[in-house]
Amino acid sequence: MIVAIDGPSGAGKSTLGKMLAKRLGLLYLDTGAMYRAAALSVKQMNVDPDDKDKASRIVGEAKIELTGEPDSMRVFLNGEDVAAEIRTLDMAQAASIVSANSGVRRVMVDQQRRIGESAPNGCVLEGRDIGSVVFPNADIKFFLTAKPEARAQRRFEEDRAKGRISTYERTLSEINERDQRDVSRPDSPLTIAENAVVIDTSELDLTEVFEQMLDKIRESRNEAP
Ligand code: C5P
Repeated sequence: MIVAIDGPSGAGKSTLGKMLAKRLGLLYLDTGAMYRAAALSVKQMNVDPDDKDKASRIVGEAKIELTGEPDSMRVFLNGEDVAAEIRTLDMAQAASIVSANSGVRRVMVDQQRRIGESAPNGCVLEGRDIGSVVFPNADIKFFLTAKPEARAQRRFEEDRAKGRISTYERTLSEINERDQRDVSRPDSPLTIAENAVVIDTSELDLTEVFEQMLDKIRESRNEAP
């Protein structure tokens, strides 16, 4: 079974994707982490992320691996554990620049399809183009969204809990800038895929959203609640 979760940053995709993967016994694939690792590979070579040819060549040669359980996932770039390094604001911005590059997207999408298709029980993939491009025939597609202020507040609290120093205002402006780039790029912009179940998580707590998503998955499998 393939579960696609798309939406802007801070809408709850990662938390809910991990919860679903654990409950349903599926592999969890954070495709944003792959784009972040791709951006890091470009940065490590001191190449401008806007240099499309060089960037896609470097990403094509990079070895990006995600291993471990959803809650303790490790991300390797050419054998080096970069899970912490890719979680900075700078790497989020760099990922959103590198991900507008069609050459980079082609490499990432191929890898994501291969991983999803070879997962024995199926896979929960979360990102921006899963239901629209990577798995347009996914068994179920979700589009999670929330008001920018709610997303920034969540992201700010997550960062603070992890000891990352920022301000609410900076987080909000970073989210707005990244969303703008993600929805306006010509290749695979962030969009609501056909047949996606749209959930606005602004006023809901994540357990409520989780239950709604499980209900939709049961419906799609014709199972009783
Ligand atoms: O989800 P996360 O915030 O880690 O993603 C970082 C960036 O990677 C996003 O802002 C987006 O530009 C890019 N991305 C993408 N397609 C995906 C997943 C992430 O373009 N499927």
